[in-house]
Amino acid sequence: MPAESVKGRLDGVLRRMLMRRATISACRPIAERFHLITLEGPALQGMSWAPGQKVQIAMAAPFVTRTYTPIEWDALTGRTRILCYVHGEGPGSAWARDVKPGDECDVFGPRSSVDPRPASGPLAVFGDETSIGLGYALSGRYPTRSAALHFELGDTEAGKHVLKHLDLSGVALFEKRADDAHVEQMAAALPSLVAAGASFVFAGKAATVQRLRQSLKQLDVTTPRITTKAYWAPGKVGLD
Ligand SMILES: Cc1cc2nc3c(=O)[nH]c(=O)nc-3n(C[C@H](O)[C@H](O)[C@H](O)COP(=O)(O)OP(=O)(O)OC[C@H]3O[C@@H](n4cnc5c(N)ncnc54)[C@H](O)[C@@H]3O)c2cc1C
Repeated sequence: MPAESVKGRLDGVLRRMLMRRATISACRPIAERFHLITLEGPALQGMSWAPGQKVQIAMAAPFVTRTYTPIEWDALTGRTRILCYVHGEGPGSAWARDVKPGDECDVFGPRSSVDPRPASGPLAVFGDETSIGLGYALSGRYPTRSAALHFELGDTEAGKHVLKHLDLSGVALFEKRADDAHVEQMAAALPSLVAAGASFVFAGKAATVQRLRQSLKQLDVTTPRITTKAYWAPGKVGLD
């Protein structure tokens, strides 16, 4: 049997063993490059989920998955939604752009990723296009714990449409600049948040996560108040 065929069969067996089958019940672009996708199915019922956790979705090619952040999870009906940013032509971007209602997919998770629960105080979330879903999940789940959201975006107008659609208000948006000067503006927001006793979540582009973390260290903020997760880095595929 050809090696490709063996790989394909093995992938099928592993998927059935480890992953949960879901059906796409809704999907639509809610703004330029941003697609809101609803996954449903009995296999998603009864799952224990916490905001910040991730799912890995199997792509068409054997052993290839891409990672997304559920913005909510209804364990009773077995329904979850993810907000995907179509940045380019990778398998994840192609899947998010082309998927249709009725399509099926295999989901691994939800599994632990970002967990700010041990840290106390209001939350300050910093991210990019890939982390708006995370911000939504974190702010929706803790109604008594305020979450100040900050996103660096290539297209702030599209970002505003997404925020309106998700009914997220009071979000600080930073237009991306080629020289990354906007990251300094994001870092400038940190001292007042530190003074207010916030705990920090940094997710999204690896370099920004690293830069903001360094700024916090200079402000003597200790690790228990900081949660970081790089969602992507230039040149790295399927970073997780
Ligand atoms: C824990 C976790 C949770 C995540 N949650 C979400 C989510 O909810 N929504 C979401 O949209 N994404 C999310 N991501 C990011 C997403 O998994 C990556 O962007 C992934 O690389 C997309 O797969 P792809 O096949 O399109 O690109 P890949 O094949 O993985 O990458 C191709 C190239 O594109 C670059 N690239 C990847 N992402 C970006 C980007 N955003 N902008 C510019 N270049 C990029 C890569 O560095 C690589 O050079 C998450 C990632 C992690 C680790």
